[in-house]
Amino acid sequence: MTDEEWRSRASQVIPGGMYGHMSTRALPDGYPQFFRAANGCRLTDVDGNEYIDFMCSYGPMIAGYGHPEIQAAANQQRHDYDIGNGPSKEIVLLAEALTDQVSHAEWAIFAKNGNDATTICNMIARAKSGRRKILVADGAYHGAQPWAARRTNGTPEEDYVHFPTYEFNNIASVVDAAERVRGDLAGIMVSAFKHDAGQPQALTDPEFARVVRKICDDYDAALILDDVRAGMRLSLDASWTEHGVQVDLSAWGKCIGNGEPIAAVLGSEPWREAASRTFVTGSFWYQSAPMASALVTLKVLNEANAPNYIEEVGQHFRDGLAEIAQRHGHGLSQSGPPQMPTVMFDGDTRFEKGNRFCQLALSQGVYLHPWHNMFLSLAHNESVISESLDRLDKAMGQL
Ligand code: PMP
Repeated sequence: MTDEEWRSRASQVIPGGMYGHMSTRALPDGYPQFFRAANGCRLTDVDGNEYIDFMCSYGPMIAGYGHPEIQAAANQQRHDYDIGNGPSKEIVLLAEALTDQVSHAEWAIFAKNGNDATTICNMIARAKSGRRKILVADGAYHGAQPWAARRTNGTPEEDYVHFPTYEFNNIASVVDAAERVRGDLAGIMVSAFKHDAGQPQALTDPEFARVVRKICDDYDAALILDDVRAGMRLSLDASWTEHGVQVDLSAWGKCIGNGEPIAAVLGSEPWREAASRTFVTGSFWYQSAPMASALVTLKVLNEANAPNYIEEVGQHFRDGLAEIAQRHGHGLSQSGPPQMPTVMFDGDTRFEKGNRFCQLALSQGVYLHPWHNMFLSLAHNESVISESLDRLDKAMGQL
C-alpha cells in the first residue's frame, strides 16, 4: 500500500485525514504522511523513500533513532517491569540525575507530554501563591490544551482568561502585563528563546531575562521556563542559566527519553511544598521503560557534551546552506540557534519559495521544514551534514 492509499483509508477513520502538527495538510505537496522505518538520522517513508531528517520527530529524537544503548535499556526495562501498581526505582534514579544536572532543580515530577509539564508548572505556581494569573508570551507555544493553544476551535475564552499575554523580549511589555494583574500574579511563563512557528526566531535578550526574574521576585510569583522544545539542545542545564538567571519551575519533554514518552517538571526548593500538595497524575506517568530510556539518554548527552556537539554540526549546516544560497543567488535568512535552525528566503512572506525548495529537498532525500524550526541531533555527524549539503546544492540549483 502506498502513502496515497493509506491517506485515502485514513480520511475515512481519522478526522481530516490526520490531525495536529504531524498532518501534512499545512505543508506543500510531496511530503510523505506515513513512515515505516527510522534509523540514526534517517527516515524511510511508507513508499520506501529515504530521507536525512532535519526535524527529529519535531524534537524528541536527539541521540539518533534506534540508539542501541538507549533502546536496549528501554527494552530491558519493558521486559522486566514497565507498568504496575507503583513505579520502579528508576523514577528515583531519574529524579536524582535531573536534579544533579539542572542547577535550579531540587525535585522532579514525571508525566508524558510537554503540555502536561507546562500545565503542572501553572498548577504549582498557583498552589503556592493562591493567585490565578500566569503571563504567557503572545504567540508562544506551550502545548495544545485549551489554556495554551487559545483561540483554537473548541476553546472558549474562559479557558485562557487567566493567561494574559506580553511580548517576548520586550521589557516594557512584561513589566506592564505584570502591573495590570498586580495582586493576582501567580507566575510568568517564558520560552527558552522565541521559537514561534512561521516567524524568524529570536534569541533571548539577557536583560529581558533578568527583568523577568526581578518581576517574579518582586511579586513573589514563579518564573516558569518552558524548556520542552529547546531543553538538552541549548544546554544540559535549564536554558536560561546561560543568561545568569535561575528559574523556579521548568518544563521538559520531547527529547529527554530520546523518543520514549516522558516529560518532567523540575522545581526549586521553595516550590516543593506546593508541589507536594498539588494532585497531578496520569495512568501512564509512572511507566518505567521511558525512565530507563531517559537515564541512558542523559548519560549519552553528557558524555557527548550534546549541546556543543549539536551546535558545531548545526553551524556547519548553516554555513554550508548560506554558501549554497549565495552561490545560486538566493537571499536566505537563518535564525535561531544552530542546534534548532529556522531557514527562510528573503521576502518570501507566503513561503512560496521555501515550500518549493523543501519539495526539491525532499526529492533529493532531505527532509526540511519551510516555516518551523528544525532540529539537529548527535546522529547528524559531519559526513551526514556534507552529504545533506551536496543534495541541497542540487535542490537549490533547481529552484
Ligand atoms: N512547549 C513547547 C515549547 C513545545 O515546543 C511543545 C511541543 N511542540 C510543547 C510545550 C508541548 O509539548 P507536547 O506536544 O509534548 O505536549
